[in-house]
Amino acid sequence: MTDPLASAEIAAGSFHEAAHAVAAIELGMCEITVRIIPDRSMSGVQTDADISFACSALGNEPLWRTLQRRLTVMVAGPEWELFSAVQSSRRQVLREQRADRIAIVGVIRQLRNLCAMRGRTLRNCIEDAWNEAAHIRGLRNGQLVTIALALDASGSLTDSELRALFAQGTGPS
Ligand SMILES: [Zn+2]
Repeated sequence: MTDPLASAEIAAGSFHEAAHAVAAIELGMCEITVRIIPDRSMSGVQTDADISFACSALGNEPLWRTLQRRLTVMVAGPEWELFSAVQSSRRQVLREQRADRIAIVGVIRQLRNLCAMRGRTLRNCIEDAWNEAAHIRGLRNGQLVTIALALDASGSLTDSELRALFAQGTGPS
């Protein structure tokens, strides 16, 4: 489609998932797959979606950074919803995105239990993950749109499909 308004007709869920996927590629995740599960129960908006990926340590980075990279990928979908004003607050977006919320809480628990992060240090680590997600969204907007369009058309994308789209994706910004 060459209609400039076409992207407005793409389900928000596709952009949400594309934001996760772009962050996952950017941050060195492997075995990434994304899938849109149609959920027409809520005013025709596709909200129920799924991403899976593997997160292994890069080089000799500390464990907290491995966990923070994972956290950034998990908040990237909600961050896109805030940016595009699909939702108005982190609290609201996380209330609606149950799978993301559970994953985010799980990573934060690991930061507490495995890295002994507490208080301001933990809050800063989480805040940095949201900021990193926003930075990647801005940096990789073309890839995000390209992947969202492909995902909306096909319903799911494999790791190799995602990387091919990422490599060619320098579309509208
Ligand atoms: Zn999500």
